[in-house]
Amino acid sequence: MTTYDLRRLRLRSGDEHREAVEIELEPLVYGGQSYEPLPRTVEADLSIARATGGTVFNLRFESRMVGPCYRCLSEAEFREKIVANEYQDADPGADEELRTPYLVGDVLDLSAWARDAAALALPETILCRPDCAGLCPECGRDLNLEPHEHDPEPVDSRWSALEKLKNEL
Ligand SMILES: [Zn+2]
Ligand SMILES: [Zn+2]
Repeated sequence: MTTYDLRRLRLRSGDEHREAVEIELEPLVYGGQSYEPLPRTVEADLSIARATGGTVFNLRFESRMVGPCYRCLSEAEFREKIVANEYQDADPGADEELRTPYLVGDVLDLSAWARDAAALALPETILCRPDCAGLCPECGRDLNLEPHEHDPEPVDSRWSALEKLKNEL
């Protein structure tokens, strides 16, 4: 877990601090599947700007997640440039919306913040390629490797029996 202690900065109103930080990322569980950040530790740009009313935090890094394709379960990856902002009001009694959940006392939880920002950037489905054909719903074989179709279902035998009976009457 990577944290950042703000006390060593001694920022005053109007000050801005920028720093390159290394953040350890955690795996994500998404849609019941686990996605692994690769590499596990990313280089990120952190900026902290202090104003009279509060502090603005900005974090930028490139996220790369590797895990199963939503359709065929083979390996898929997702890359995205992440830009995340958080705000902390100087007033401890301020609304929850004006207070970042990643700051506990003077310590910023960079791992949790980066994990949540990476999770928010994920698309609805992660695919090995945009036109992945997926698995056959009938036999489960990979349609990318073995494109195939099955014969249309035979007419339900109960109905045909009924039809026959009707014809006999
Ligand atoms: Zn796929
Ligand atoms: Zn099939």
